[in-house]
Amino acid sequence: MKKRSFIFAILLCVFISIFIFRPRSESSPVINNPSPDTFGDSITTPSEDESNIPSESNADEEVEEEEKEVDLLEETSHIDDDGKVIVDNTDDILVLVNKNRNLPSDYVPDDLVVPNVRFTFEGFDEKKQMRKEAAEALEELFKAAEEEGIYLFAVSGYRSYNRQKYLFDTRAARDGFEEANKLTAYPGQSEHQTGLAMDVSCQSVGFDLTQKFGQTVEGIWLKENAHKFGFIIRYQEDKVDITGYSYEPWHIRYVGKEAAKEIYERNITLEEYLGA
Ligand SMILES: [Zn+2]
Repeated sequence: MKKRSFIFAILLCVFISIFIFRPRSESSPVINNPSPDTFGDSITTPSEDESNIPSESNADEEVEEEEKEVDLLEETSHIDDDGKVIVDNTDDILVLVNKNRNLPSDYVPDDLVVPNVRFTFEGFDEKKQMRKEAAEALEELFKAAEEEGIYLFAVSGYRSYNRQKYLFDTRAARDGFEEANKLTAYPGQSEHQTGLAMDVSCQSVGFDLTQKFGQTVEGIWLKENAHKFGFIIRYQEDKVDITGYSYEPWHIRYVGKEAAKEIYERNITLEEYLGA
């Protein structure tokens, strides 16, 4: 009998020690409430409930999102016989057109209208037009500006492939191909062909499309407020390497309110937004 209770006592001790000294990682407060100091460690701590670790899970989501967007850019284009990348999502308000991504030469938006805003010239012209959704957003933008005493003038919106070709060829003949390619979009590579862009100016710079516009009250207002109406300043001063174009404080591009807000707040380009 004595031997039996001795064995029982030993087993009980072993049992109690296992309970006391069991690994505590599952209940460790470090994981669920990471402090700045222990945060780095908590990432490497195995946990079944990783969704409680904010930074790591967000980083994962961002990576996934980026991968999705990169794929999206490839999915929205094809390579033609000359090796040029041609975009397929021509009617998408997030269509990305730049020096690497061309619109088809025969692309004409089918919902072009003339926005009811102040222009620098009278009478109808092809370049007064924008796609309907962008035109309506531009009307709202101009109205809001005017309510604050800001008088913007629309200069140039939709531009056909042939018109762009004429402008480019004229400039190239005068200044050479390289110089022309810096300042004038190559045909098929102009956002104006999308019907989603508008060049805007003001009286104090003589209604010109000049970088000085960026320092006028109108230019500053536009920079700070365009996103509220779904527009972005497409070619920023510090983003020339990414966009491939010089600073154009006058060129606004419609992308919709959601994208415009994010692009503005993160101070990024459309290329970066789309993961290019
Ligand atoms: Zn422009």
